[in-house]
Amino acid sequence: MIVVTGGAGYIGSHCVLALHNSGYKVKIFDNLSTGHAETIDRLSKCADVEFVKGDLNNPEDLDRLFSGEKVSAVIHFAAFSQVGESMTEPAKYYRNNVCGTLNLLDKMLQYGVGRIVFSSTAATYGEPEYTPIDEKHPQRPINTYGRTKLMIENIMDDYDHAYGLKSVRLRYFNVAGADSDGRVGEWHDPETHLVPNILKSTFTGGKTFQMFGTDYETRDGTCVRDYINVEDLARAHILALKYLENGGKTEYFNLGTGEGSTVREVFSACEKITGKSIAVDEKPRRAGDPSVLIADASKVRNTLGWIPQKDLEQSVSSAYSWEKTLQSMLQKK
Ligand code: UDP
Repeated sequence: MIVVTGGAGYIGSHCVLALHNSGYKVKIFDNLSTGHAETIDRLSKCADVEFVKGDLNNPEDLDRLFSGEKVSAVIHFAAFSQVGESMTEPAKYYRNNVCGTLNLLDKMLQYGVGRIVFSSTAATYGEPEYTPIDEKHPQRPINTYGRTKLMIENIMDDYDHAYGLKSVRLRYFNVAGADSDGRVGEWHDPETHLVPNILKSTFTGGKTFQMFGTDYETRDGTCVRDYINVEDLARAHILALKYLENGGKTEYFNLGTGEGSTVREVFSACEKITGKSIAVDEKPRRAGDPSVLIADASKVRNTLGWIPQKDLEQSVSSAYSWEKTLQSMLQKK
């Protein structure tokens, strides 16, 4: 039995499907603060999943989670993840992300669960000193969100040294796309990410797409990011889990494609896939956006054999199909 915290969220829900496809039994733990009950319903229709509604900061909820069938590993997504909000409400982020994870790790020790795959982020690196960014790049986060994830990585190292808890930390670059079969997809409120924001603007009642910053020193003046497909990303979690199951030591890997796309290139891909001409409102730079973020993902390729299979257009295409489903779900609400 594998526990997925945050399984009602964007990346967690795709990971639940990947676990199910790989033959694992899954228990989802989520407080539904940013995840959706509808996502749990949709997952339950196609996968054998148990759902425990609960909060990482409530030890009794964690006891309910771990009692019963023996849990062999945890994949931990549950966290707040909005960079801007993390700067204005740091207490919320430290309490939920850091304290919540401490509670989770302590309960894992109590119940004899010795393996965890953790959803970390390229935001732990901060302003890039060089690109592509490899795992040796200094970790100096420039926002509270990144700091919470780095603190957790450090805690996991200490828990390995002292208690033997093994972890794999996956540092994601920019994630995009949705389930190829349209069962789940990205659903944030408010939505801050590039691909869904461009796609949302094509629907009646959607806001005009705002392009933040056109004066960067990049090939077309807009920021470059490394967009990794969410199904490829989910597959990496399965590989990380199997690595730990085979006795692997604590590790950390970047997850990206090694290729960068500018905001304008993503925009063009969205126009191509949707067949629509999309209105753009060119705005000043958004605070805290580094100009270029590209992963050197050779470590995960060499260690776990993970190779991304889907390109940006495939991600945009599945994200667009999902966005249509989501818009009709929201209309019925
Ligand atoms: N971006 C944009 N308009 C939006 C959302 C994002 O121009 O509505 C830009 C953002 O400034 C950045 C890139 O798209 O340069 C990727 O932003 P996103 O929030 O998707 O990911 P981040 O790199 O911040 O994790």
